[in-house]
Amino acid sequence: MPSAKIYYDADADLGLLGGKTIVFLGFGNQGAAQAQNLRDSGIPNEQILIANRPDSYAEDAKSKGFIVEHDFVKAAKLADVVFILIPDQVQPRIFNEQFAPNLKDNAAIVVASGYNVFFNLLTFKSTQDVTMVAPRMIGSSVRSLYVKGKGFPCFVSVEQDGTGNGLALALSLSRAIGATKAGAIASSVREETAMDLFAEQALWPNIITLFREGFSVLKEAGCSDEALCYEMWMSKEPAEIFERAAEDGFIHQLKHHSIVSQYGQLSGALALDGVAVREHFKNILYNQVLNGKFCGEFSKIEADLEKEGDANPLNQLYKKSEETELVQAEKRVRARLAGLL
Ligand code: NDP
Repeated sequence: MPSAKIYYDADADLGLLGGKTIVFLGFGNQGAAQAQNLRDSGIPNEQILIANRPDSYAEDAKSKGFIVEHDFVKAAKLADVVFILIPDQVQPRIFNEQFAPNLKDNAAIVVASGYNVFFNLLTFKSTQDVTMVAPRMIGSSVRSLYVKGKGFPCFVSVEQDGTGNGLALALSLSRAIGATKAGAIASSVREETAMDLFAEQALWPNIITLFREGFSVLKEAGCSDEALCYEMWMSKEPAEIFERAAEDGFIHQLKHHSIVSQYGQLSGALALDGVAVREHFKNILYNQVLNGKFCGEFSKIEADLEKEGDANPLNQLYKKSEETELVQAEKRVRARLAGLL
């Protein structure tokens, strides 16, 4: 696999955005950050339209001086570019019903996550450009790094080049939101979705399980709840390890630990047989993520996620997870040490 291409400011021409009406569907986490960055990059306020229902997000946009349109059909008709920045699970319903039928034939559609495009949940005309500009940061960091004159990590791709000018436009938009300053990595909705859902459905569930089972084994061996909670995560040691891994290197960060720890960790990891884990991971990646099984199952329960109480499947999962020994112990510890935490 060749190294990924990285695009910088010099690869992008902001001039391509001249005279274009750029609509942000959503003014939340990413919408607010990206719209402000784009305006601060010199795109005139009159060219930017925030499409949002009349509520606190819309008020926030107005208070920042943006023009806000509550009627999505009107916004769609005006758009040369639309950034879809509402939660992934509501995009198909809102975009397909109110935006897609009213967009210009040569409009450019920008997503910040690959999911809905990879699983073909959004409707586009073949003459339109479909691009992904996906920051790898939460919106507040997208904004604060831009304000500091710094870039942020971001994936960029062209999924449908309806106008023949899709890449140049995607790079121009990436530059305008500040994504090419530190280098935007050429990617695809497949790659982004595979990595995102793999982390969510394979890597982190295993990490949660390791902590849950590790907690129970040490508790059975006589360790107290208080000592375990602090030792395992409340001291923030795992957060520091990952911060060091990002700065010094995944393995090299071990040098900050004692020699006993370094020896134990390296010899322990090398002694473990990764074959079963690898097979388990492959099974999730190919038979749950990439084949659309999870997506299909999630679509069926998506409407229930707005329900209250046990009718909401996410609430049921929380309830079940909270029955575990680790969570129960943590609750007791937090109640007891409330003043200290
Ligand atoms: P938010 O949850 O912050 O989105 C809130 C916005 O969506 C508000 O404008 C809200 O307005 C609008 N919205 C919510 N529900 C609806 C609805 N039913 N109909 C119309 N508008 C609605 O989203 P994010 O910014 O977190 O995510 C946007 C995109 O960015 C997603 O594709 C996500 O995957 C991607 N992304 C997110 C990152 C993150 O850190 N969160 C990082 C990188 C990418 P109102 O409620 O008034 O309608």
